[in-house]
Amino acid sequence: MSFTKPYIFAAMSNTPDGNTLKNIVSHCKEYGFIYPSSDIYDGLGATYDYGPNGVELKNNIKNYWWQAMVRMHGNIVGLDAAIFMHPTTWKASGHVDAFNDPLIDNKDSKKRYRADVLVEEYIAKVEGKIKKEVTKAAKRFGDAFNEEEFIRTNGRVVGYKEKIAQVEKRLGSSLSSGNLADVKALIEELEIADPVSGSKNWTDVRQFNLMFGTEIGSLAEGADKIYLRPETAQGIFVNYLNVQKTSRQRLPFGIAQIGKAFRNEIIARQFIFRMREFEQMEMQFFVKPGTEMEWYESWKEKRINWHKALGLGENNYRFHDHHNLAHYANAAADIEFNFPMGFKELEGIHSRTDFDLKAHEEYSGKKLQFFDPEDNESYTPYVVETSIGLDRMFLAVMSACYTEEKLEDGSERTVLRIPPALAPNKVAILPLMNKDDLPEKAREILSQLKFDFATQYDAKDAIGKRYRRQDAIGTPYCVTIDHQTLEDDSVTFRERDSMAQERVSIAELMQTLEEKVSMKRLLSSL
Ligand code: ATP
Repeated sequence: MSFTKPYIFAAMSNTPDGNTLKNIVSHCKEYGFIYPSSDIYDGLGATYDYGPNGVELKNNIKNYWWQAMVRMHGNIVGLDAAIFMHPTTWKASGHVDAFNDPLIDNKDSKKRYRADVLVEEYIAKVEGKIKKEVTKAAKRFGDAFNEEEFIRTNGRVVGYKEKIAQVEKRLGSSLSSGNLADVKALIEELEIADPVSGSKNWTDVRQFNLMFGTEIGSLAEGADKIYLRPETAQGIFVNYLNVQKTSRQRLPFGIAQIGKAFRNEIIARQFIFRMREFEQMEMQFFVKPGTEMEWYESWKEKRINWHKALGLGENNYRFHDHHNLAHYANAAADIEFNFPMGFKELEGIHSRTDFDLKAHEEYSGKKLQFFDPEDNESYTPYVVETSIGLDRMFLAVMSACYTEEKLEDGSERTVLRIPPALAPNKVAILPLMNKDDLPEKAREILSQLKFDFATQYDAKDAIGKRYRRQDAIGTPYCVTIDHQTLEDDSVTFRERDSMAQERVSIAELMQTLEEKVSMKRLLSSL
């Protein structure tokens, strides 16, 4: 099938600018993707509810991840652990003592910030200056421009790069040694000002534990303090032996889980990027000690391929290797995505050594080992994990797909160019008129398609308006039923991105849609 008639005149914006995030937030609310939680009470900070289209998109992202990780790997199995866990879990994992963020207040504006984020934003500004130099030079040198050489040799750029390296090193070492006075000194030396008020009048930096605590048990005296889990990973570690034995897996093997996590984040602006209640999709891969670096590299590659297969733009991703490692890791990298507010962490890939399993062995007194029949020895496995925030992935999809377009006829449309396999609805069934047996014919088609595809039925308003509504929620195909349909069983098949239309027979519809929107096609491209 070939499409004709491309009408699009120009993409007006889906590029990072001050308004893109704001536009996405209001689009998400208007079209039933995301609402502020408890909206009628004016919302609750950093907590959001997913509406009818949002829940479909979210489920499709989950499904893509689950199928790619669990279905496509014979040695990865699933788990759904409880949110509440024995309190000792969080002592063993280090969260009670060390799951802190460094907090700083501005004395004039009374606004609270994460001290490390203020420094990271400073670094991002310096990165922005490098980008500007590169763009300027590219214009000046034209075709002869060699970006790599320019970055390596241009005095100003080299200076910026050295500055970034210095700041990163100092921040890393003062955070890992707990030298909070030096973090404050760094903020002052870099002359970082409050982004809201411009004031440089800062308090000291303090640590703030991010776990939400509550009590279990009905009587206050007999109640025990427990926590809402701040990550799903620990549910996997404490179940390591249960899962390994009952699924009869041998090393290397992985356990995958999707579930809620809770963090009392200090700053929670930026919409669903940083929430206090969010969802993680994590996979812990258990390997023989000494082989972890191979697996770490292999999982970095697999995960970036998973992202790129969606076609959201190769240049929207980059790796950020960590030089200052968390206490449990011997290698770590983030996959960063080009969100409207710049490149930020979307997923973490960490080589966690045997830190967690060893700690749980110590605190529980139970051995969490694997007997290796080939080497005839038992050992505590090492772990390589991949951890992605489902909500951040949702925002990545929205950021890349939200587009405002000017059309040839001067009109405008907002379209979500969501990859068809992830789109909340795959096809909309639209009777051209709400009479003359057209609705009956449309419902007949709907009842054939609804078992295999998420469908929408819409008979209200002019057809052009209905197409715009479907564009705005990212429906990749529309099927229009008109009088000719009653005569020859053919329909108009309209494609979202090009807006091209074509006549196809009802008999072809099922297969055509299957080819274009199926998760299978996406998965087999991995
Ligand atoms: P950040 O540095 O942005 O706070 P993190 O390094 O603490 O993130 P991890 O503990 O590695 O994050 O969690 C794994 C993933 O979970 C992150 O890559 C991110 O996608 C997601 N995530 C973490 N915190 C939040 C949050 N508050 N809201 C939404 N997603 C989150």
